[in-house]
Amino acid sequence: MTEMQTRGLQPASQGFQTLFVPSERAIEAKGFPGEIWICSICQFVIASGVRYNQILGISFLCPSCGTVVDSPARLPGQPLTLSIVADAGTFFLGEPIMLTDDGVAIYSRDTVQEYEREIGKASQRDASFALMDAQGLRVHAYQLQRLLGDAYPKLKAEAERAISSGNPQRVHWGYELVRYARSVARDLETNRTGSFDFDAMRLAHLPLVAQTLERWAQHPQYPALKATLAHDTEAQHTVALLLTAAWLADIGFGIEIVPAKGFEKAPDLRVMADVWTLLDTELKTPLVLRYPEHPITREVADSAIRKCLSKSSRQIASESYMLFIGSYGLSPRDHEMLENRAMHEFRRYHRRNLLAIAFVNIANVVLTGQGPPTIAPQTVLRLAENPFHQGRAKIVRGEPRDKLFHEVVRSPPKE
Ligand SMILES: [Zn+2]
Repeated sequence: MTEMQTRGLQPASQGFQTLFVPSERAIEAKGFPGEIWICSICQFVIASGVRYNQILGISFLCPSCGTVVDSPARLPGQPLTLSIVADAGTFFLGEPIMLTDDGVAIYSRDTVQEYEREIGKASQRDASFALMDAQGLRVHAYQLQRLLGDAYPKLKAEAERAISSGNPQRVHWGYELVRYARSVARDLETNRTGSFDFDAMRLAHLPLVAQTLERWAQHPQYPALKATLAHDTEAQHTVALLLTAAWLADIGFGIEIVPAKGFEKAPDLRVMADVWTLLDTELKTPLVLRYPEHPITREVADSAIRKCLSKSSRQIASESYMLFIGSYGLSPRDHEMLENRAMHEFRRYHRRNLLAIAFVNIANVVLTGQGPPTIAPQTVLRLAENPFHQGRAKIVRGEPRDKLFHEVVRSPPKE
């Protein structure tokens, strides 16, 4: 049995909205070795067996000396997990709150709301359809230009130079899309025949990028993520990363988007299953899996999977990790083949630190009928679980845990 670390809780600086008033020890957590939290004024034990991230945003009135002390606060970008949520107010605890070994946390309502704002959960959006008429296209073009921000005039100048020197392939994807959308909008405005002849799949990329970025606008990593759009190949990695993060967040996992740190080993995401389990997650978006012109062959699939595995294993320092491989516009057949080839690769070479490979395919569904077409992005995931993985994290198949913050402690009515 390892000895528990001690953490002194400091007197409240501004004081959280949620105040626990225990008559003895406030919280006792069981299971894994955690920390002992003491009042830094009188050393009275406020909580025992807890993890540093298990109680966030809660003040305690020390039953021994009467000082109000604070639990740790959530840091910007810090993920949350399955928890009991305490509303703002004062709670009198007759006996300690017992936490068993399933890694449930206690957070204040403020803490949860701040996290939900960052991951874009607070604003419940419906899957949005983008109208591909002249006005819709002008709006989409404007949105992407705004996202490219200060980089746009530079990309435009570079594009004009590339075209005049006969290198149109050097034109930045984002600039090219904005230009194409505006030229189609002009055609539609002058076209009275009612026939629509343009590449809707290509144009569908405009609202896909804008809507995906929009969800994360409150996240501390947003400025850095937005800046990647000006890079030619990084943009599709960013979009796939944010769609993957959104998907994981919406089925009930805590998500940390890890800031890029030069040459340091760092995954793209950390996925929090409970207070004890934070799984490193790497996302790769190989160029060969972006809108391929031909069906994917076995050889292409095997080579893409092996390259992703060897690159990601160099970026991961932890003992266990998960790999996401993002693709754009694959057919269901290609997508299924990737999953089968991953299972084949697992048997060919046994990797103990790899939990699974998830294949995320991003496609645009174009709906045509009377009038201009509408499009909607669609993310489909296939999971290949590595049977040779040896680690704490496990994949549990079944109903998504759609509610992360399910139990709510409310302040008792005033007597
Ligand atoms: Zn005290």
